[in-house]
Amino acid sequence: MTQPRKLHIKSFGCQMNVYDAQRMVDALAPEGFVETANPDEADLVILNTCHIREKASEKVYSELGRLRVAKDEAALQGRRMAIAVAGCVAQAEGAEIIRRQPAVDVVVGPQSYHHLPQLLAEAARGGRALETEFPVEDKFGFLPPPQPDAIRARGISAFVTVQEGCDKFCTFCVVPYTRGAEVSRPVDKIVEDVRRLADNGVREITLIGQNVNAYHGDGPDGRPWPLGDLLRHLATIPGIARLRYSTSHPRDVDQSLIDAHRDLPALMPFVHLPVQSGSDAILAAMNRKHTADDYRRLADRFRSANPAIAFSSDFIVGFPGETAEDFAATLALVTQIGYAGAYSFKYSPRPGTPAAELQETVSAAVMDERLVRLQELIDSQQSAFNEAAIGTTVEVLFERAARNPGQIVGRTAYLQPAHVMAGPEIIGRILPVRIDSLERYSLIGELAAPQPHAAFVTRPDSSPQSLPITTGA
Ligand code: SAM
Ligand code: SF4
Repeated sequence: MTQPRKLHIKSFGCQMNVYDAQRMVDALAPEGFVETANPDEADLVILNTCHIREKASEKVYSELGRLRVAKDEAALQGRRMAIAVAGCVAQAEGAEIIRRQPAVDVVVGPQSYHHLPQLLAEAARGGRALETEFPVEDKFGFLPPPQPDAIRARGISAFVTVQEGCDKFCTFCVVPYTRGAEVSRPVDKIVEDVRRLADNGVREITLIGQNVNAYHGDGPDGRPWPLGDLLRHLATIPGIARLRYSTSHPRDVDQSLIDAHRDLPALMPFVHLPVQSGSDAILAAMNRKHTADDYRRLADRFRSANPAIAFSSDFIVGFPGETAEDFAATLALVTQIGYAGAYSFKYSPRPGTPAAELQETVSAAVMDERLVRLQELIDSQQSAFNEAAIGTTVEVLFERAARNPGQIVGRTAYLQPAHVMAGPEIIGRILPVRIDSLERYSLIGELAAPQPHAAFVTRPDSSPQSLPITTGA
């Protein structure tokens, strides 16, 4: 039998990387690797990297500098520490990583994680292994499923990748180059994964993909299923109480998805719908292929299907050529939509993308100023949204013990953390909570008596949209 070896994975960036890290742990479990939170005692450290913005990819080289010291110290103690770089920086800069950091043993792109055991064996024989091809076989078919104890240790909420890659080619974005073309997993494989998770205590599934609503996996009836149909099917799996999906592109929202929000109580009314800009000129230059008005109409369609829906989004400020008027159009769109939260980024030119060639750049000072103004507006909307929960009763799915002794923390439908004083037996249950106060972004409340039926109230005084207030337990 192989001796247990210790594996430490550090993930940067998106949810897809969090999920991929778990799949790498699953792929290496049969090789005798067990996870450790301490990189210094690891036999293998994997950096699961992000290339989306310059700052994210530069972090990799500083991390590698630190790991090189740890590797040298391990060698002085007579231990071998292997270092692997995975993720999108590995894909985009594989050869460069090998050149810049001699301590790296393995470089593996996101489509090749199922080859990790072979690549590590190759490196152990004294070489350095690099694989950044897009292999013809589907990695999902080769990655072993998680073991029941690994599922339970990961908690009651899980990610499942349903789609990878992107064919949209937004002019600022590296994803189509690092993750490759759009590929959807077949429905039956996803159902198998979700059943296994549900059988081991998972209550909430987030379907993930770089462009998740472009999903068109083969269905059991032989036709490609849209995301809405997939969600409808997954909602019937016993044990699954909540479904979410991320990240959507406004252009790929179809009627099946809107209808799913109308019909499925398990589908959470919280939609992450990145828009990037409120200016039609900038949206066109970004190759988003929709206008700000298209987006407004789309938001209306979602809210007509389910008035409880709240939105979050992504924004980029300082895209080349963005004028004061363009930026004002972004602020106007944010004001009209009313977000429960959003991410905003300064534009970062990425080598190889069309926008990186554009000359009309926005100065760093203007970008900083716009980012602050946008974030202030979003923060004020988020605060109003959270404050609107005070005095209402909301459903919370309880996840784990909180840092404060005696408290259990869970999430509302809108992913707001909610804390109550209770015992650990409520973990995994959805219970009504009367919200009393706010602590930064967390809701604080008490378990409420279950109510006989569900109802929705609109709170035009403070909330940009309706909040669910009572539920049956
Ligand atoms: N697929 C999603 C979509 O269509 O919006 C987004 C995926 S990307 C991983 C997450 C976010 O990073 C984007 O929505 C965008 O706001 C931001 N982003 C991507 N490239 C960027 C760049 N070059 N500079 C700044 N932000 C960027
Ligand atoms: Fe990148 Fe999203 Fe555009 Fe695809 S749709 S290119 S992932 S921003």
